[in-house]
Amino acid sequence: MSLLIEADREEGYAGWHDVFRQVMPTMDIHWWNDPQVDPQDVEYVFCFDPEPGRLTTFPNLRLICAASVGVERIVRDPSWSRLIPLVRMGCQETTAQMADYVAWACLSAHRNLPRILQARDSGQWDKFTPAAVVANRRVGILGMGSLGGAAAKMLTKVGFKTAGWSRTRKSIPGVESFAGPDELDALLRQSDIVVCLMPGTPDTMGILNAERLALLPSGASIINVARSGHVVMPDLIAALESGRLSCAILDVFDKEPLPADSFLWKQPGVLVTSHLASTASQRSRAQYASDIIAAFERGEELPNRYDPEHGY
Ligand code: NDP
Repeated sequence: MSLLIEADREEGYAGWHDVFRQVMPTMDIHWWNDPQVDPQDVEYVFCFDPEPGRLTTFPNLRLICAASVGVERIVRDPSWSRLIPLVRMGCQETTAQMADYVAWACLSAHRNLPRILQARDSGQWDKFTPAAVVANRRVGILGMGSLGGAAAKMLTKVGFKTAGWSRTRKSIPGVESFAGPDELDALLRQSDIVVCLMPGTPDTMGILNAERLALLPSGASIINVARSGHVVMPDLIAALESGRLSCAILDVFDKEPLPADSFLWKQPGVLVTSHLASTASQRSRAQYASDIIAAFERGEELPNRYDPEHGY
């Protein structure tokens, strides 16, 4: 029984090998392109961006563990069998880091950090205060899965009025739940800060367009930590430039790293962070994959399993 590791390509393999060896001492662990490996022996893979067609070369593959939360680069391969379970990364460090980031970003949007940084850059004394205190600031989270749910719980602790939108209704103490396409507009109308934590699917891409941004209360802010395509960038910039929105904190981009000459770095009202909201350690991710493989071998139901029908 072998585990093949593709995540972080060959450069990152030594680190992954060490942590997997610690958490799975009896597993036969190999680099993705190890010529010694017989494809017949491969039962498990830990991957991020396998080359299309490769997964089908392992006839006895039983389980795919993704090294990341987003699995677009795995499921883009039309040839892999949707019957083999694919589990997205869901370790506790991933959710905790995202909850921390969202709390930081909501407080930064609440106190308009982009405007403070602009004043610093221009040496301008720009004394302003927010229109409300945190207890009266309403945050709406789009996507209430493992990360959105953890972020919502954190925001209630910070003191924000918190609501979330998902496909199915949720029950989290202190968090108002909106569900399905019919309830999206109502959530947006009452959200001073919108946090995007949706998966990238045909239903969710472009979801924050001019029409929906226009539903937000005047002076609202956008935080995007999911996929860049969730926000229609020209519509967001127009809303910021017109003064309808006050700021946007963006962690994800079409092209990463964001090129040094991108206008977004200097766009008034925009704060760019370098896709750093949540990156769990190798140790924590290897432990999670090891726990998932153990649960799979015991025949248990797996958490964070990719659902081909819904595309996330
Ligand atoms: P989950 O799959 O656990 O949750 C997705 C949520 O979105 C669920 O609540 C789901 O509803 C909801 N949803 C999906 N489709 C729709 C729809 N059409 N309408 C309404 N709601 C919908 O994802 P995670 O929480 O684990 O991750 C969220 C995203 O975070 C990832 O896709 C990834 O892009 C991003 N991410 C960003 C990182 C960063 O550093 N910036 C790091 C890690 C992840 P329901 O609950 O009803 O199924």
